[in-house]
Amino acid sequence: MKNLLGGKGANLAEMCLLGLPVPAGLTITTECCTDYYANNCQLPASLMDDVWKGMKDVEKNMGMKYGDAENPLLLSARSGSRSSMPGMMDTVLNIGLCSATLPGIIKKTENPRFVYDSYRRLIMMYADVVMEKAEGLDKGIRRQLDEMFDEFKHAKGYKSDTELSADDLKTVAEQFKAKVKEVMGVEFPDDAKEQLVGAIKAVFKSWNGRKAVSYRRIEGIPDDWGTAVNVQAMVFGNMGDTSATGVAFTRDPAVGTNIFYGEWLINAQGEDVVAGIRTPNPLNDDTKNEQNKHLPSLQEQMPNIYKELDDIRTNLEREFTDMLDIEFTIQEGKLYMLQCRVGKRTGTAALNMAMDMLKEKLIDEKTAVMRVEPAQLDELLHPICDPKIEATAKLLCKGLPAGPGAAVGKVVFTSEDAVEWTRRGEKVLLVRKETNPEDVDGMRVSDGILTSLGGMTSHAALVARGWGKCCIVGAGVLDVHEDKKVAYVKGTDMVIKEGDVLTLNGTKGHAYEGALALMESSENPRFQEFMSMVDKFRTMGVRTNAETAEDAALARSFGAEGIGLFRTEHMFYGKGADQPLFILRKMILSTTNEERLAAINELEPFVKKDMKETLAEMDGLPVTFRLLDPPLHEFAPQTADKQEEIAKVLGIPVAEVARRVDALHEINPMMGHRGVRLGITYPAITEMQVRAMFEATAELLKEGKSPKPEIMVHVTIGGRELTITKASVDKIYDEVCAKFGVKIDYLYGTMIEIPRACFLSDRIAKTAQFFSFGTNDLTQMTYGFSRDDASTFLPDYIDKKILDSDPFQTIDPKGVGELITMSCERGRKTNPNLKIGICGEQGGDPKSVEFCYLNGLTYVSCSPYRVPIARLSAAHAAIKHGKK
Ligand code: PEP
Ligand code: MG
Repeated sequence: MKNLLGGKGANLAEMCLLGLPVPAGLTITTECCTDYYANNCQLPASLMDDVWKGMKDVEKNMGMKYGDAENPLLLSARSGSRSSMPGMMDTVLNIGLCSATLPGIIKKTENPRFVYDSYRRLIMMYADVVMEKAEGLDKGIRRQLDEMFDEFKHAKGYKSDTELSADDLKTVAEQFKAKVKEVMGVEFPDDAKEQLVGAIKAVFKSWNGRKAVSYRRIEGIPDDWGTAVNVQAMVFGNMGDTSATGVAFTRDPAVGTNIFYGEWLINAQGEDVVAGIRTPNPLNDDTKNEQNKHLPSLQEQMPNIYKELDDIRTNLEREFTDMLDIEFTIQEGKLYMLQCRVGKRTGTAALNMAMDMLKEKLIDEKTAVMRVEPAQLDELLHPICDPKIEATAKLLCKGLPAGPGAAVGKVVFTSEDAVEWTRRGEKVLLVRKETNPEDVDGMRVSDGILTSLGGMTSHAALVARGWGKCCIVGAGVLDVHEDKKVAYVKGTDMVIKEGDVLTLNGTKGHAYEGALALMESSENPRFQEFMSMVDKFRTMGVRTNAETAEDAALARSFGAEGIGLFRTEHMFYGKGADQPLFILRKMILSTTNEERLAAINELEPFVKKDMKETLAEMDGLPVTFRLLDPPLHEFAPQTADKQEEIAKVLGIPVAEVARRVDALHEINPMMGHRGVRLGITYPAITEMQVRAMFEATAELLKEGKSPKPEIMVHVTIGGRELTITKASVDKIYDEVCAKFGVKIDYLYGTMIEIPRACFLSDRIAKTAQFFSFGTNDLTQMTYGFSRDDASTFLPDYIDKKILDSDPFQTIDPKGVGELITMSCERGRKTNPNLKIGICGEQGGDPKSVEFCYLNGLTYVSCSPYRVPIARLSAAHAAIKHGKK
């Protein structure tokens, strides 16, 4: 139903079936929208006939008639796609107000002020959405009308919209119409039928509006889904003090607590609550906070309606078995449900709700596992402010805690700056009065968001929460001037300028000056409980890429079942690397076999120590050691002082060292003398590493441990390199076993990183006991895109839809994916027991994990922090696709 009626339409239908008070209406399907686009933006031929026919039922149900002079029905036209796109598409309200219907509705409501207020809202929305945006124009009519409205209020000395009289609003409406004619060159349509047709087309058009397209790109929503249009009888929250409008969540969307959480405004229309113009009232005691505690709650002001709404909350949760986000309107004391949908939530809330609902027996374990998106786990593992440091930090302002975690970054004031600064590699915080759907690109790239206006259901809060981004809204003491790129902290002499560094604590809603130290979020027992449940459904293994005992320990605590990639060369970078690097340089710069062998022997104890520590940390679990990978010149001393140092040790002139370094230079080193090729030329290098590994294993065996080493030969192009290397391995194996008097179990395998190796996988599998797809290099080699430089042009490829996503992040199913599938098939044909893994970056990406599952991989391997994400992704894949 959702595919055809859109989320909103399907849920409205569901609420009707539950007997909830929903204003009558009809839904135009998403198929009509796709037809509309296929037909060069023409409405399907019979559509309006069907609409007018359906309208008869709506009229009957509401006891009013559309376009009627005596008893006119007013309509709204709202978008609604399969998947929620909050605020990204357009809506038109109060459709049907025109000179023919105004007198009738004034007579009926006896409330001319309300009627003219609705009328001026219609003119503004219609001009903006239907006459400007849908026509692809950029005349700024909404801004101009807004300014006109402000000038009018200013001239009259009014502070708030509620001070305008009926006559004032009538004058404003007339001025608006004149302005629309002047700016747009056409009259605002004074005909109810014409208004409805225009509004329907405009909602279809908004599917392809700039912000909707940007949002779809970020969320991966296909362009051809289209939107439905919900045409529904209007009910009014702005009909005086017994009318109101509000939004609520059936549970707290920020942390997941089982409380009814919402905001409402008396005498207002829906958009006023989310626009952040007025601070909304709390729904009940549970929703009170610093900013709104002085305002009466719905529970206090209209207890009966609150009770009805609270019952609906229970009813809806029972029906949908999920947390819902609802919109309601109270028209002169009567409650109407305008919409409900499964609510967006932070990762913390998703996990807490899943565990609570499981306990409440609302859902089963499988559903609970599916309720948390793998990417949301990231948030739970992300840093928080170190509380000790936070206690002494200089507080800038307080707001509402809209998105959890902490963020440190430089302040920018526009979405464009956020995008540009992050392209330069800066971490930014987007500071604004409020955000609107135009800002999604900037919000996406920012580490945190801070707004001076808006409540917990404002656009910024909703979007940030959906993305699990740190966010503070409604920091009322901030006076933000986006045009001047400054914000003043009212009542103090503090000023925030562009580029200033701040820290946001989105869990508390506090912003601080400067960069505070962050720390890892402490171990959450519910997280552990959830992850154990995840593993009940997971069938594919999850390992980690780690090179140090610390990383191995961390990954193990995250549930890694072994190491899928130990990059040996890491011991030559960073902490404690000076001595081994120096010896490696001696080896690289040797010109005779003796010199080289001496250096290699000198290096072995370091390599062995490193391997032994990691094997010990991962005791009982497999550790895949990859042989030395980079081209040797990467380690050659480049600076004069380093060359001098090595010249002294080798007893040769500095000029000779410089000459040898020069000789190692390669034009295209990534395709040069690297990987297995080093061992083919210098078998002694391979032998030293293999000996180190076997000796480390033998020593651990003697200590009563259970090391499980695996040797991985890399950047291979076929079977021969593997058989040649295997001969060296066998020789060393025999020597070490004899020396220690032990029998060592190990696996011998290869990394598949070159397309040729995919083609030759049947032959490779004759020697290799396992394959591990090195999808970083495999993607680089398949595309011919440098993995180090592609970021300069990849965004253009994605913008121009040449590629759906970055293939270095998500396995490209068409090219690289096909190669992997073929390699698995060919490899397994030779050896049905072949173990197959992946250790490229994509190994921690949820979509790629699903791909690996579908190809029957034995395991995925990823960086320690992505291990929980990979575990959950693998469980999702198993639940979605059944046992492999
Ligand atoms: C790969 O190429 O996918 C890989 C894991 O190896 P590296 O990133 O070290 O080249
Ligand atoms: Mg590689």
